[in-house]
Amino acid sequence: MRTYNNYVAGAWTPSVSGRTFENRNPANNDEVIGLFQDSTAADVEAAVNAAAQAYATWRLVPAPKRAELLLAAAARLVEQKETFARDMTREMGKVLEETRGDVQEAIDMTQFMAGEGRRQYGQTVPSELRDKFAMSVRQPLGVCSMITPWNFPMAIPSWKIAPALVCGNTVVFKPATLTPLSAVNFVKVLEEVGVPAGVVNLVTGGPDIGTRMTTHDEVKVVSFTGSTAVGRLVNQNAATGFKKVHLEMGGKNVIIIMDDAQLELAVDGCLWGGFGTTGQRCTAASRVVVHEKVHDAFLDEFAARAKALRVGNGLEPTTQMGPSVSESQLQTVMKYVEIGKAEGARLVTGGRRLDSGACARGWFHEPTIFADVTPSMRIAREEIFGPVVSVMRCSSLDQAIAIGNEVAYGLSASIYTRDINKAFQAMRDLYTGIFYVNAPTIGAEVHLPFGGTKATGNGHREAGTAALDVFSEWKSIYVDFSGKLQRAQIDT
Ligand code: NAD
Repeated sequence: MRTYNNYVAGAWTPSVSGRTFENRNPANNDEVIGLFQDSTAADVEAAVNAAAQAYATWRLVPAPKRAELLLAAAARLVEQKETFARDMTREMGKVLEETRGDVQEAIDMTQFMAGEGRRQYGQTVPSELRDKFAMSVRQPLGVCSMITPWNFPMAIPSWKIAPALVCGNTVVFKPATLTPLSAVNFVKVLEEVGVPAGVVNLVTGGPDIGTRMTTHDEVKVVSFTGSTAVGRLVNQNAATGFKKVHLEMGGKNVIIIMDDAQLELAVDGCLWGGFGTTGQRCTAASRVVVHEKVHDAFLDEFAARAKALRVGNGLEPTTQMGPSVSESQLQTVMKYVEIGKAEGARLVTGGRRLDSGACARGWFHEPTIFADVTPSMRIAREEIFGPVVSVMRCSSLDQAIAIGNEVAYGLSASIYTRDINKAFQAMRDLYTGIFYVNAPTIGAEVHLPFGGTKATGNGHREAGTAALDVFSEWKSIYVDFSGKLQRAQIDT
């Protein structure tokens, strides 16, 4: 059994706790992927100290030079893509095609942020005074704590670490306890390409170390992706130290299908949006609002296609949907199926755990669709994070948009229609951070901002150049070359 260490100050070291935790394959519980460090606050202390020390020199490395390391890292990720994808499928269950996509996203993001090493544009503006120069530049902030979930084990860390590094910050990174191997793989790549000791530090472990990472005086930025409940705690804990806090949290995303939609296309989108990653995406299409004129035709086809999805081990090439990530996630799914039934929703397909044959040793569940769901039901409002889709009816676009906006979250939304007026109205009126036309709620690209409104986010965005705003702050600089005291207009 292989034991993996933390990475602190450029060395792979065990936790001072002397304890480890197991990482098991959710498709086959008999398989232990490895043992990982069950770290403590003392390990965080060492990691933050290392990051603070490294910051003194890393911030002075020219950004294009920092970017060269990112570019080298991206190339290394390309070389190891298949190995990393297989490791990821084994540790969290999603099908190989999707874990390849996860690594690809890390490649794309690392390449994109490497490009920012030669940009990070500021502004040069005319001064109101003669012989005076005025400009703004981005500056790094210092040590950044990165706390990430398990559903995109390499992509999400890359969304945070690549922009933080190119801006000149240093990092303490804590992945979810369910996916530490992908974190180790990513950090190893950064080590191999020569990111200096202390610039990126990895500590594995649970909520306690997360708390320390959000309260430590030396930490200037906290970037968190995970559930809204934990995000709220992170926000509260970091508030007293006036840290910059970037939160990406839960979702309850909607696909609207109008009566003029291409139904086959909409069914394809709902299958992929609802059951891709076993419904364990923050952008999962867990709600579908269908115009009453096409409701029954859509539902029949959607249910038949969902029922036919092949569920199993994600390493098998024929598998279309893997397991839930853990027993507790599966229990949540099963609990919500019971809630849906008790609320009076109609179970159209699925609804049961799969625990025989090839699924006997894992946390599998049938793709599940409820119809006759009303917007006030819990299955229509609460994030389930599993293969459960709630289908609702509407009689107009206005009603569909109202239903779409009725939840606490605001990450992603989509509309299927051939009417450009309807598409634009929905684009304007659905209050989400991401919007799709004739495509499902998932599938973001790395060069546009990613994030949500309301209980999904706190106004910051991941990815694109928007990420630079999280990991840098503006300094405005005035250079007076007149040789005399010139007072600004406000002072005269
Ligand atoms: P989670 O909130 O349980 O855990 C996220 C991370 O926070 C983990 O690393 C965990 O160990 C850590 N943590 C737990 N308690 C903490 C504390 N008190 N202080 C600091 N850190 C703590 O989420 P999860 O189950 O890993 O992931 C699923 C959730 O993530 C879903 O709600 C999903 O919507 C969300 N998510 C959001 C996005 C987005 O971009 N909006 C992307 C992916 C996942």
